[in-house]
Amino acid sequence: MRVRYEGGILVQDLLKEVILDPVRKTPGSIVSHGHMDHLTSGGIMTPQTLEVLKVRRGGTGQALPYGKEIDLNGFRVVLKDAGHVFGSAMVRVDDLLYTGDFNPEGGSTCGKARPEFVQSLIVDATYGRPGYNFPPKKDVESDLLNWLEMELASGPVALAGYEFGKSQELISLVNRLGVEVAVSDRIADLADIYLRHGIDLRYRRLSSLTEEERKDPRAYVLPPGWLRPPAMFDFTRRYGVDAQFPLSDHADFEDLMDFILACRPRRVYTAFSNAKELAKAVDRRLRIKSEALLTR
Ligand SMILES: [Zn+2]
Repeated sequence: MRVRYEGGILVQDLLKEVILDPVRKTPGSIVSHGHMDHLTSGGIMTPQTLEVLKVRRGGTGQALPYGKEIDLNGFRVVLKDAGHVFGSAMVRVDDLLYTGDFNPEGGSTCGKARPEFVQSLIVDATYGRPGYNFPPKKDVESDLLNWLEMELASGPVALAGYEFGKSQELISLVNRLGVEVAVSDRIADLADIYLRHGIDLRYRRLSSLTEEERKDPRAYVLPPGWLRPPAMFDFTRRYGVDAQFPLSDHADFEDLMDFILACRPRRVYTAFSNAKELAKAVDRRLRIKSEALLTR
């Protein structure tokens, strides 16, 4: 199999070819997940991602549930949970695996990415630089919840998260405390998709709160832009940001090394932010032939 970047990740084997995460609408392509830098219409994607596509960009595609194998241009294709965000998939194409953005630790609103034995592995290098390591997710989550409980004692608290993925992950965390969460309509529109797929999230739309209710101690999950002045809400005590938590939805550097080793690939291709650094580390530390794809 040959792999290169050409308007997407192009996988070729003799006369067969398939494009993964194309930059623009490509019928017959495969789309890994619903973040804007990966999301295009026309391709094959999980039913969850397809619904996210409809809300975020419009357009259509072909739904392929996790674990169901199809024949695509002569390739056997299966989508596996990537543990990155709701609906996110790793893509298996014959004996090649493309991780897309992935996280072996998973999250409260998605499963975990599990390694697979393959010949070729294309891996997301977002944190592919030695030293890019996060504390265990459990610890970050409990730090966040402890902080939140303390802050709620003196009034409402706003949490900022990107509208798809992080925000719903925050709703799920706050739900553990049994505290009411109010969210922007956009975040709620996306969270509604989670509900339709059986993920238990409890939230209210901001637009449904009365003026009186807004003063009650409650957590708000809002897009990051809303927290900067002039803020939509008067969080007078907390203009600016009071605390930050490294709640990551990507594999960190050590996760990457472990995952790659466990897949036992003959060849590794690295993609995205730190592709060159990761390729070097895979060559040197793991002694596996590795190449950085020149992605967008
Ligand atoms: Zn992503």
